Amino acid sequence: MKEKVIICLHCGNKTSMKVVANHDLMEHEEIWDYSVNYYSPAYITSFFKQWEMYLCPVCTEVTIQRTTSFSEETEPNGNPIKYTDTIFPLGFSENKHLPSPVRDAFEAALKVRNLDGAVCIMALRRTLEKMCKHKNAKGKDLFSKLKDLQSENILPPIMEGISYILRKEGNSAAHADDKEFSSETVKLMIEFTEVILDYVYSLPAKIEKAQLKLNQDVISNEESEL
Ligand SMILES: [Zn+2]
Repeated sequence: MKEKVIICLHCGNKTSMKVVANHDLMEHEEIWDYSVNYYSPAYITSFFKQWEMYLCPVCTEVTIQRTTSFSEETEPNGNPIKYTDTIFPLGFSENKHLPSPVRDAFEAALKVRNLDGAVCIMALRRTLEKMCKHKNAKGKDLFSKLKDLQSENILPPIMEGISYILRKEGNSAAHADDKEFSSETVKLMIEFTEVILDYVYSLPAKIEKAQLKLNQDVISNEESEL
């Protein structure tokens, strides 16, 4: 049985988990080129999806990972590039682009999400503090640092509302000891933080990758035209 070390976002333990269920899906698409052949497709592309459900032996909750690949997107050795992300529970799927202090702080927040909402929200605030430091934001507190990132166009104006809410919830998490945070609030705060991190780190990395790919395609088209 397939087994893998995963951080369980339900209980926070990093532990070896077994696959208890899985499902595969393969879809094909025929690409026709009538200038070459009228009766059969020029080639066939395939899109592969796989879901694996892992069971945490500590808390007996499940984690679902999805792996995808596309036959036209390959490694230099010709094997399709595989992308794996965790789709349940909501958590760190695209965190490979985050600098490690930011990633560590964010993962620490996710680990305690179901244990202590206030601690989780404080850890989310710490995550944003680390991001501000990494981006050399100026300011005396988190709010003015986030504002500074907006004026530098590292964060878009639409983030203002989000960072205001995060700051407000973060302050009450830090100061009002009695306040209980509903799991809905905690979930929302995690989503907000994720949106900000995606915008600052993952999106630029994805765009750069797409541009590289487009440039390569242009070069290889030019070569084939010569
Ligand atoms: Zn667990």
